[in-house]
Amino acid sequence: MSNKRILIWYRNDLRLHDHEPLNKALKEKAEIIPFYCFDERQFRKTSYGFPKTGNFRAQFLLESLADLKKSLQERGSDLIIRKGLPEKIIPQLAQELKLTAVYYHQEVTAEELAVEKALESGLNKIRVKTESFWGATLYHPDNLPFKIAHIPELFTNFRKKVEKASTVDPILPTPKSLSPLPAIEIGTLPDLAALGLETPIFDQRGVLKFRGGETAALERLEEYFWQKNCLKSYKETRNGMLGGDYSSKFSPWLASGCISPRYIYEAVQKYEQQRVKNDSTYWLIFELLWRDYFRFICAKHGNKIFYPSGLQGLDLPWKEDWQRFQLWQEGKTGYPLVDANMRELAATGFMSNRGRQNVASFLTKNLGLNWIMGAEWFESLLIDYDVCSNYGNWNYTAGVGNDARGFRYFNIPKQSKDYDPLGEYLRHWLPELAAVPGDKIHEPWKLSSEEQKRYQVRLGVDYPQPVVDFFKSIKTNEAIYSTREKGTRLMTNDR
Ligand SMILES: Cc1cc2nc3c(=O)[nH]c(=O)nc-3n(C[C@H](O)[C@H](O)[C@H](O)COP(=O)(O)OP(=O)(O)OC[C@H]3O[C@@H](n4cnc5c(N)ncnc54)[C@H](O)[C@@H]3O)c2cc1C
Repeated sequence: MSNKRILIWYRNDLRLHDHEPLNKALKEKAEIIPFYCFDERQFRKTSYGFPKTGNFRAQFLLESLADLKKSLQERGSDLIIRKGLPEKIIPQLAQELKLTAVYYHQEVTAEELAVEKALESGLNKIRVKTESFWGATLYHPDNLPFKIAHIPELFTNFRKKVEKASTVDPILPTPKSLSPLPAIEIGTLPDLAALGLETPIFDQRGVLKFRGGETAALERLEEYFWQKNCLKSYKETRNGMLGGDYSSKFSPWLASGCISPRYIYEAVQKYEQQRVKNDSTYWLIFELLWRDYFRFICAKHGNKIFYPSGLQGLDLPWKEDWQRFQLWQEGKTGYPLVDANMRELAATGFMSNRGRQNVASFLTKNLGLNWIMGAEWFESLLIDYDVCSNYGNWNYTAGVGNDARGFRYFNIPKQSKDYDPLGEYLRHWLPELAAVPGDKIHEPWKLSSEEQKRYQVRLGVDYPQPVVDFFKSIKTNEAIYSTREKGTRLMTNDR
């Protein structure tokens, strides 16, 4: 062992496999100090007053940390835990432990970058080195055919160029043993109450009983790919909404870094060699590319992703009608597809990709409400919240993203029929519509009084009347959007 002592600052990278900071420190034969800080800012409120980290994600985080701690202990080390501000606590630890350096995975968005900057400056003052590593994406920026500042503004252009010219680096090994920690107070994992949160009650209707941690992440991959063989038909099932296996459900583990995208990539390659290589195996990697894309776009555009005017700088008069927003939040809009999905989110912290696209379209294109309210509600509740994927997708759906193609909306009643033809998903989440048969469940507002009696649902009493007329509201919002969009185009031409 050298006489180096390096602190590994864990953030959204809660794993031992494919972890460059850890790997580099081990290569340097340093003594490793694994560390996690509950950043108190992450447990405050969003700008619209929602808990920034809601209880579903907080529970997942605690489970992930417990798993990481156990894995570190099994290798002879441990995880030091503190609560407070990393940029204050790490320099204190650096002095106490006489650290040589601090290694960590870098983030790309404002709040996280501000912490990195403050930390670096604090450590600089006491002459402790910092080194940051890029580790959240499938493709490393060094392997891209363009600099981050030149990332194409259209996903398809990005994808095609990357697929043609870039390679994915192999995963880094998982350490077998680690040095014991020096004498120091280890600190304990808080419980949810200490974070100001209540324990969520598991809802049996949820798609999956998500359990945080690297161990559970690798088990999920094993199950989805190898035991259940779901990968071979992923492309056909991925737009589902009901059950554990229509899609991989890797997102919470990817967001917290319990699994690395390169680990998934290598497993897909193995699956292609041993089982089958088809459109589905390609498509899972295609989706991981979307994830990469949003992270690179955030790195390129900085804070714009959080502005109501989005990456396009499109200044739309978004409304902040709390009454309507509440109907959306609680799943009481009168549009069953929206309501079922919003109730699923509130009850479980998860929603399918199909659902997310529809509810986000409804909030922005039908209700005309500020998309930031929706994005923050997602931020609060989603177990898989990832700043780049969330704000990137919201930008896109709200029509203010770089890659957004004008005013595009989801035809919710049609989507409902296309993606839930038998209404099974709707009945799963909307008990008051359980007796409404077949096709009729997609548009309950069309039920006659006779039918309402027969199916035991009174519109406006048991289940709401639609909060807005679907096509009228689309027309109104489209008109607003088009005027502003033209204005923007004109401005761009003027320049
Ligand atoms: C408004 C909105 C908000 C979203 N917020 C988030 C978020 O906070 N965190 C998050 O991880 N995903 C977000 N997504 C993307 C997507 O809905 C989820 O990644 C997906 O539903 C997770 O389920 P899965 O792991 O089974 O996905 P799968 O279909 O199995 O896909 C595999 C992986 O690919 C990635 N992926 C798939 N679709 C997308 C996408 N559209 N954008 C970025 N990555 C994608 C995810 O990492 C996912 O785990 C959002 C989408 C929308 C429309």
